[in-house]
Order: sequence, then C-alpha cells, then structure tokens
Amino acid sequence: MSSFPIPFNKPGVTGIEQSYIAEAIASGHLSGDGAFTKRASAIVQEALGVPKVLLTTSCTHALEMSAMILDLKPGDEVIVPSFTFVSTVNAYVLRGATPVFADVREDTLNMDETKLEALITPRTRAIVPVHYAGVGCEMDAIMDIAHRHGVEVIEDNAHGLFGKYKGQWLGTFGSMATQSFHETKNFQCGEGGALLINDPRHAERAEIIREKGTNRSRFFRGQVDKYTWVDVGSSYLPSEVLAAFLTAQLEQRDAIQGARAALWHTYYDALDDWACEFHVRMPVVPEDCDQAYHMFYMLMPSLALRTAFIDHMKSRGILPVFHYLPLHLSDMGRKFGGEPGACPVTEDISDRLVRLPFYNSMTPEEQTRVIEAILDFDWKV
Ligand SMILES: *Cc1c(COP(=O)(O)O)cnc(C)c1O
Repeated sequence: MSSFPIPFNKPGVTGIEQSYIAEAIASGHLSGDGAFTKRASAIVQEALGVPKVLLTTSCTHALEMSAMILDLKPGDEVIVPSFTFVSTVNAYVLRGATPVFADVREDTLNMDETKLEALITPRTRAIVPVHYAGVGCEMDAIMDIAHRHGVEVIEDNAHGLFGKYKGQWLGTFGSMATQSFHETKNFQCGEGGALLINDPRHAERAEIIREKGTNRSRFFRGQVDKYTWVDVGSSYLPSEVLAAFLTAQLEQRDAIQGARAALWHTYYDALDDWACEFHVRMPVVPEDCDQAYHMFYMLMPSLALRTAFIDHMKSRGILPVFHYLPLHLSDMGRKFGGEPGACPVTEDISDRLVRLPFYNSMTPEEQTRVIEAILDFDWKV
C-alpha cells in the first residue's frame, strides 16, 4: 500500500471478481484453459477480430513466447525502442538475439519509424513497436518497412488494448501482439497477459509452446488420440482463478475505458493553459489515433524542475512518478553497444517525463486535489 493519500496507481476492481472466482472454485477446474480462460480470451478475440488469443501468465511471457515462435537464434537482431519496459527487450535477449535500439519520436514517444530503415541489416528478424501510453505507432510505415525487408512485427501492446490507429485496433497489425494484465494496466488480474496471434501460421506452435512443448491442446480438441512432447515449450497458462478475475474486468471494458477517458480529458483541459505558460509539454495524440487512455504524462522543462515538481506533489500527499530509463544506457544495454547519444530523444525525454496519478477508481475530488496541487507549483524553486 502506498503511504500517499493519492497514490500513482490503485489496481482497478469492478466488484464482480469475487463472485467469478467463487464460480471458478465451485466448478472444480482451477488449472488453466477452463471456462473463464475461454470467456476472457473470447472477449478480446471478438472485440478485436483477432484469429487467436492465448491468455498467458504475463506480457513478459507472451513476449518470450513470440521469441520462441520466431525461432530466434544467437546472431539474430531484433529492433526495439530504447524507451520501453525491460521485458520488451529481455524476451528476445533470452533466446540469444541481439537488441538493436531505436530512438523514439518527439511527439508520441513511439518508435521513430523514420529512423528504422537505417537499423535494418541482413540479420534483422523482427521489429517490436510499443504503443506508448496507448497511442498507436506509425503502423503504416512500420509495416511497409517490415514487409519490404521480410521481417516480422510483434506489437508490445501492453498499453494499447482497445486503442486504434487509422481505425484499426492496436494489436492487430503485427504477426503477433502481446498484452499485459498486470495491476498497473487498464485491465488487470494482478499478474497476467495474452498473446494475440494474427498470422495463422504461428497458431499451432503458439499452443504447443504454451503447453510445455506438447500437443495437449490438439488432444483436447480430439485432433490427435494421445498427447506427446513435440517441441520446446514452457508453462504459460494462468489459472482459472486469475482468468475469472480478468473476465470480470474485461466484461466491464466500456465502463473502465469510459472512466479513464474522462480522467484523461479532465487533466488535459485543466492543465493545458498552465502547461503552455510554463513550457510543459502535454501528451500528443495524432488525429488518426484513438488512444487507449493508459496514462497521463507531461514533459517538464528540465530534470531539475521535474525533481522539484515531484517533491512538491509528494509534500501534498500525491505521488506522481517518472518512467522508463533509456535501456541502451543500462548495464545490459551497454553490453549490446549502447552508448550516450545513440538515442538522443529517449535520453532527453526520459529525464523530463512525469506521470500523474491515474486509476479507474479515481474520484473527481481526488483529481481536483491533484490539479490544484499542480497549479500551485512554485516555478521559482
Ligand atoms: C507492463 C509492460 C510489460 C510487462 O508486462 P507484465 O505483464 O508485467 O509482464 C511489457 N511491456 C510494456 C510496454 C509494459 O508496459
């Protein structure tokens, strides 16, 4: 529990979770792939029109599955943004692949598609865009580059569920996409995730890899008469207890997304003039993007002002937080050749970005307190 009266995040709860969990317990089926797993994956599958959705134990594990499905080997290269969560990169490094760090655009903080082509080599196997804050990357350009060079696109869509780019759902562009249902995301079950499979060529191996390298899923569908070890794999199935929790959340998706949209626009409208006056950069959502309302961030004019701002908010019992440190400058990133100046936009914005408290159950009174504290910030510190 946060000691701040207004924490950065409170895991969203709809109130329906407990009765669904009780139902799962009463059903006598608590391991993976039972009735609630089917219900939760069907919601995403039907809402997005994705051919196959597999619930996983996390987005990290869904990313690891994508690396196994691609059969990545040492020497293969995967292009990733430097400005992302460590799992976007680690999943591929685990298979021995070399990460190639791409910088981000100054406006959306998404992978800069104009710098992508220069990073492609004969060893490039995949591009992994992250739809930062739930705002779509420039998918037309990214898909075009990928097609021309014969490389796969895996969308890390941890922030982007139910967002759109040019009218198309995020998570439906790449051959695969990954979702997170960690407690910090729009929809959560504590720890959880999903692998979306858009390219049917990957569907069978995805099932096998998720089921410890066996063809157990085909066995249960009656397609083979015994199940056996057929490939590499691991255990990536969440239990029915988690799937029941998640089903309750996904069924309330309109209410949850509606509440988040209202919070986002309230922040934007209340802070726009203030931001203009003090040279704070507000979030940019391009015309052709319907964002998923994952977070509300701002770019402060400098690191010193961000530090002073966060301290000021904390003194009011409010906890804003910064976000990713450039991965190419981390200890691991440097082992892969990362050096200062390689991703200048990432290096700059990472020092200045601050995220405001943003959670499904945030009350108008709480949000007003946050806004009033922001407007009270003394710029002469
Ligand atoms: C949260 C997050 C992940 C990891 O999600 P888990 O479900 O915790 O493994 C990966 N990528 C991005 C961009 C994230 O925000």
